[in-house]
Amino acid sequence: MKRKLLFACLISLFCIIIPKNVNALEAQPRYFTYYFYEYDWTWNYRQAAYYYIVDTSSIWNSAISQAAQNWFHTGYHTNPLYPMTRTYIRTDSPMDFYKDNNLSDGTNGVTNFFIKGGTQVQGPTGAPSRNWLYCKIYIHEDYFQEYYGDNPTKRKLLIIHEMGHVFGLAHQPDNPASVMHNWLNTTTATAVSEIDSLGLVTKLGGV
Ligand SMILES: [Zn+2]
Repeated sequence: MKRKLLFACLISLFCIIIPKNVNALEAQPRYFTYYFYEYDWTWNYRQAAYYYIVDTSSIWNSAISQAAQNWFHTGYHTNPLYPMTRTYIRTDSPMDFYKDNNLSDGTNGVTNFFIKGGTQVQGPTGAPSRNWLYCKIYIHEDYFQEYYGDNPTKRKLLIIHEMGHVFGLAHQPDNPASVMHNWLNTTTATAVSEIDSLGLVTKLGGV
């Protein structure tokens, strides 16, 4: 008799708990956190923002140009970035593009952070360890070609992603719709998304 009573109690406990959990799941909106680097880009991006192509293959030129335009005009918010264009004067550039086919397999691109004078300021996770002035962006052209061929959307997305790091945006592991999602193969973004645009104005200012 005691055993039956205990069983009944357990059943009713489940009945109380389970529907409550289900309701909670259904009612819960899909909130997630947008992640930023702890430190900031000190370039005067309101007055000048250029990129300098060191030695990436010319097939990347239009992707770099399109990515720069997309960050300037996201279609969602007005951000404080000066329209980014290519410069041929290296010291004018806060982001320099290199090819690096020696990056580890699985890595399409890397962004490194530097202060004035050329000291790299980067912690073990890849995040900047203090405020930075400029970045070097390395593209693993061979690896990209192997996986994506001439896919222009993925090419543009890779550059958009690395530029996002320059601005101070960190990886967004919880959100595949973000261009800052960790993995180029699983992101659903095809251009700077609304949440990335919001992330940019949150980091750099704007409306
Ligand atoms: Zn990244």
